[in-house]
Amino acid sequence: MSCDFLALAQPGVQKLSPYVPGKPVEELARELNLDPQSIVKLASNENPLGPSPKALDAIRAQLDELTRYPDGNGFALKQKLAQRYGVGIEQVTLGNGSNDILELVARAYLAPGLNAVFSEHAFAVYPIATQAMGAEARAVAAKQWGHDLNAMQAAIDANTRVVFIANPNNPTGTWFSAAALEQFLAAVPEHVLVVLDEAYIEYADDGELPDGLAFLSSHSNLLVSRTFSKAYGLAALRVGYAICSAQIADVLNRVRQPFNVNSLAQAAACAALDDHEYLARSRASNAAGMQQLEAGFKELGLEWIPSKGNFIAVDFGRDAAPINQVLLRDGVIVRPVAVYGMPTFLRVSIGTGAENERFLEVLRKALGR
Ligand SMILES: *Cc1c(COP(=O)(O)O)cnc(C)c1O
Repeated sequence: MSCDFLALAQPGVQKLSPYVPGKPVEELARELNLDPQSIVKLASNENPLGPSPKALDAIRAQLDELTRYPDGNGFALKQKLAQRYGVGIEQVTLGNGSNDILELVARAYLAPGLNAVFSEHAFAVYPIATQAMGAEARAVAAKQWGHDLNAMQAAIDANTRVVFIANPNNPTGTWFSAAALEQFLAAVPEHVLVVLDEAYIEYADDGELPDGLAFLSSHSNLLVSRTFSKAYGLAALRVGYAICSAQIADVLNRVRQPFNVNSLAQAAACAALDDHEYLARSRASNAAGMQQLEAGFKELGLEWIPSKGNFIAVDFGRDAAPINQVLLRDGVIVRPVAVYGMPTFLRVSIGTGAENERFLEVLRKALGR
């Protein structure tokens, strides 16, 4: 009889379910025999504008160097980030996506007997990274779909090593203010590492969201993680970063894969950081698309959660799975969020004007309007 290798996995891993990504265009095209060109994917919070032309040029210039390992220290990109944000280069850690940063934190600070605190309806990677280390994933009930920071603070105990908070949060799009963050940071015990996930912060340019970096100098237990996957439009390349104290950065560097960010990603990220025009276009397109979808939902009598991200969660007031099936049949991919405890919602990433219109059209039909 062969061994049960599921039973042999560490207990935390046995209890995990794999992360479910947005359905790839090619997969739906195969399943329904559709032309991939005709499919609209608004499921993974990707930037609908295509990559920055400057990033593409930087990648091309790097191609002849593919035989070489990337710079394992990521010097050029770290230096650029340090200068941009006014921090020391020793405070910057690069990740294979900011997902990698979350895992580095878990690997360095979590173990059986310890726990990580995060909110209900928060990013699925927090419990995965936590349980993969055999630590307890402590999900705290949300308040009006957003983080209940007071309840999260109350859930912290002597065995808590990490708190994951996202501002804005995915998949809800909810956010908290600078005052709320300040109060939370003041109340969290110093031994708890606060991971402030700002994957969508570049979209929030109206001053309603705090800049997490502004709190670093007063809170040595704070780590801010950001990404090039969303507003910078480089999701396929997998590059993100953390800014935190030099000591925490040193710890993360000890558990990091030596070459975790590839050379094309490093070159493209450097170029994207300098492409201010692209970032401005991303923001403007997102703001217009957000208005377009909200207007469409209003017309259909649907409720939604106001969002500061590049996505919006819309509520159908009943199981959203059948509606999602109809959308898929018509070649529109959005994200069911039942696994996030939101079975009556679908999360829709903001697309181009034409993509948003196509989604609304198909949605009207799916609802029989
Ligand atoms: C998309 C996302 C990330 C990170 O994505 P990467 O591509 O790994 O950088 C992190 N946190 C949240 C909340 C996200 O939605």
